[in-house]
Amino acid sequence: MSAYAEFYRRSIEDRDAFWAEQARLIDWQQAPQTICDDSRAPFTRWFAGGTTNLCHNAVDRHLATRAEQAALIHVSTETGVEKTYSFAELHAEVQRMAATLRALGVGQGDRVQIYMPMVPEAVFAMLACARIGAIHSVVFGGFASGSLASRIEDAEPKLIVSADAGSRGGKVIPYKPLLDEAIRLSRHKPPAVLLVDRGLAPMERTAGRDHDYATLRAQHLHTVVPCTWVDATHTSYTLYTSGTTGKPKGVQRDTGGYAVALAASLPHIFMGKPGETFFCTSDIGWVVGHSYIVYGPLIGGMATILYEGLPTRGLDGGNDPGIWWSLVEKYKATVMFSAPTAVRVLKKQDPAYLKKYDVSSLKALFLAGEPLDEPTGRWIADALGVPIIDNYWQTETGWPLMTIANGVESRPSKFGSPGVPMYGFDVRLLDEATGDELTGPDQKGVVVVQGPTPPGFMQTVWRDDARFVKTYWDSIPGKRVYSTFDWGVRDADGYYYILGRTDDVINVAGHRLGTREIEESISGHPNVAEVAVVGVADALKGQVAMAFVVARDASGLVDDAARLKLEGEIMKVVDAQLGALARPARVQFVGVLPKTRSGKLLRRAIQAVCEGRDTGDLTTMEDPGALQQIRDLVVR
Ligand code: AMP
Repeated sequence: MSAYAEFYRRSIEDRDAFWAEQARLIDWQQAPQTICDDSRAPFTRWFAGGTTNLCHNAVDRHLATRAEQAALIHVSTETGVEKTYSFAELHAEVQRMAATLRALGVGQGDRVQIYMPMVPEAVFAMLACARIGAIHSVVFGGFASGSLASRIEDAEPKLIVSADAGSRGGKVIPYKPLLDEAIRLSRHKPPAVLLVDRGLAPMERTAGRDHDYATLRAQHLHTVVPCTWVDATHTSYTLYTSGTTGKPKGVQRDTGGYAVALAASLPHIFMGKPGETFFCTSDIGWVVGHSYIVYGPLIGGMATILYEGLPTRGLDGGNDPGIWWSLVEKYKATVMFSAPTAVRVLKKQDPAYLKKYDVSSLKALFLAGEPLDEPTGRWIADALGVPIIDNYWQTETGWPLMTIANGVESRPSKFGSPGVPMYGFDVRLLDEATGDELTGPDQKGVVVVQGPTPPGFMQTVWRDDARFVKTYWDSIPGKRVYSTFDWGVRDADGYYYILGRTDDVINVAGHRLGTREIEESISGHPNVAEVAVVGVADALKGQVAMAFVVARDASGLVDDAARLKLEGEIMKVVDAQLGALARPARVQFVGVLPKTRSGKLLRRAIQAVCEGRDTGDLTTMEDPGALQQIRDLVVR
């Protein structure tokens, strides 16, 4: 048996001993009493009875050995800022933030929503929450008022931490008006808002509610805030993700299991060592950012680069597609983590930019978030000369579900495959209709995980255990397994290939969006009677959203100009509610949408037409002309 096969086998068959060993990678105030408690499956509890703290493990425990070493390296090509915080400085800043949170009434178990650009204060706020046992809920800064409002309503935060503005490609994006509008829309009104003023955009303040961070920080420069020891099962954060309904789900994560999962992933998967630098180009608004910009590298005693900006812009604001590689060289990054979309953007630039810098410090480049196509994988592998390691995961899993654990045993990657199941994940392929397990090679099925799920995996859906069970664990007939809602196949060597979603979720530039959410937003336009949104393959972004609308009053849609005007208006509605990320690439107008006789929208058929594929069996379709209209539009 190969070294990895044995490692994997132990993680499943000798679960408690395996994870008790991994648990030694972090500091505990009190050792765990039970390793895995699955008595209330599927609500698996890890390391119960043990007490620990995420912030202690990410910051305080390194003070004895590496206080003066770099911990957080902030680089913003938007504002020209480049600043390094040592572990000692990070420790001081986190305490200032924690003291501020306390002064604003935040205590253990309270929620703090963080709606921030990629600035150090966002990381301080996350760590400060962990320090005092508060639950953070980061909302991606690119989301607009509607998305933010639904998350505020669900999380019911005591405090929202935000900033005057973000910036993208040199364009200032004011956050405060979006936040004010979100609070106006939300039934829950947070009693306090803490604002970081970057001096980018003017802010209106609501007296009694809005507080200035610079002022409060100055009052707490030397306040000592010890870590609150919490049970391993204490919720550390929630992070919302799109599903098949319009209402996003609050993925809830624990403390001890998460810390152990991340601590173990560094040597086993990412091959990162204390004192080295980790450069993850994601955003703190996504799970990859939580795990590998903030907690993972710091828990592992590594410096982490917090990068604000495009991959093609220099610190002086000019065009510079070599910026990331210059940072790898400057900070001697050993581990880099990005997304295929970002690589596809760089691929369009002059390859000379890549050759300008010495990237020999890199051990590997990890890519995740969407399928890695072979041309992109090959291009970057040739250009960088380091292994490119695809890894497949979800907000729900917290860390890679499939990849190659080169730290355990070096094994080749295969193009197009994220690899094999990671230790702790009992992955199976099931027939969607019958629930039967597919054991042979090259059979297409739904990728599922047999419980108990490993440390770091979601605990439940925030305040909705029933939804957790119904959505994830009851979707396959006759089986109590966690469904990823991804199609997959496994080859004869045990490598998996991910073939897209089984549900109505689409993936735009590595970001997960629910088509229903976009449809609901579009329906908010007064002249929209019906709408269908589908994801369509795109060379740069992987997928883009396409909307087909039946207008309430089509009499004005006489020419292209009139249609373009309404299309623009509809896009504005999506921009304002969900953010530009969710904006469809096109909005097209049709007389009728293709549906089954029972009224179910035929999204897969629409998608097939848009991608020029065969539509499959359409005998249940109500109006055969409906698809022809879409075909005519797409061909045009
Ligand atoms: P999110 O929860 O936003 O990270 O989205 C998770 C989804 O992104 C998965 O269910 C997959 O559909 C897709 N995904 C993530 N990583 C990969 C990958 N390496 N290869 C293929 N699909 C991926």
